[in-house]
Amino acid sequence: MAKYIDPKCRLCRREGVKLYLKGARCLSPKCPIEKRGAQLPGQHGKKRARGRISGYGIQLREKQKAKRTYAVLESQFRNYYDLAIKSKDNTAEVLIRLLESRLDNVCYRMGFVSSRSLARQLVAHGNILVNGKKVDVPSFQTKPGMIISLPEKAAKFDFVAPNLIEKNAPAKWLSRVGTQGKIDRMPTKDEIGSDIKTNLIIEYYSR
Ligand code: SF4
Repeated sequence: MAKYIDPKCRLCRREGVKLYLKGARCLSPKCPIEKRGAQLPGQHGKKRARGRISGYGIQLREKQKAKRTYAVLESQFRNYYDLAIKSKDNTAEVLIRLLESRLDNVCYRMGFVSSRSLARQLVAHGNILVNGKKVDVPSFQTKPGMIISLPEKAAKFDFVAPNLIEKNAPAKWLSRVGTQGKIDRMPTKDEIGSDIKTNLIIEYYSR
C-alpha cells in the first residue's frame, strides 16, 4: 500500500494549518506552524505567496486537509464519501462518523497514543484487541458497544505507557479505564473539534 514518507510537518505547512500529525510536538513551540506561521514548504517557501485560490481550489484543499488529518488514501477517502452520499442520514455527519470510527482513530481518541500515526502503528502491528480478539486493520470500522483494549505487552510500550499514567481523557463519546475502553456512541460533527468543512468536501466530489 502507498505510504507517505516525507516529513509530516510539510503537509501542515502546505495546508497552512496545524493538522496535529506528530503528537506532543504539535503542542510545543517546536511546531513549524508556531515558529514560521503558514509559510509554504520548500526552499523558496518564504518568498512564495499563496496566490488567489479558485472555488475549486478551496474545495480541493479542504478535501486534502481531511485526508491528511486521518491519513487516508484518495481511493479510501472516495469510498467513505460514496458510502456517506448513499446514506439516508446527513452526508456530512456520516462522512465524519466513518472517518472517526476507524480503529486507528478510535485508539487515538481513546488516548492510548498521542497521534494517529502511532495509533495506526499500534493497530497494524497487532497490538489492539476488539472485543477480546486481535484486529490489525487500521481502517476496521468500529461500532458502539465495542470494547477496545491493549494487551499487557503493548501497555508497556514507550509511546503508550505515559499516556495511560497521565490519565489522558478520552473523547466524550468514548470511555476508558486503564487499558480498556468502550465506544459508548458515535460522535456528532460538532464534537470532533476539527475545522474540517465537510460541505466543501461534498461540493468537491459532487462537481
Ligand atoms: Fe503539523 Fe504537528 Fe508538524 Fe506542527 S508539529 S507542523 S501541527 S505535524
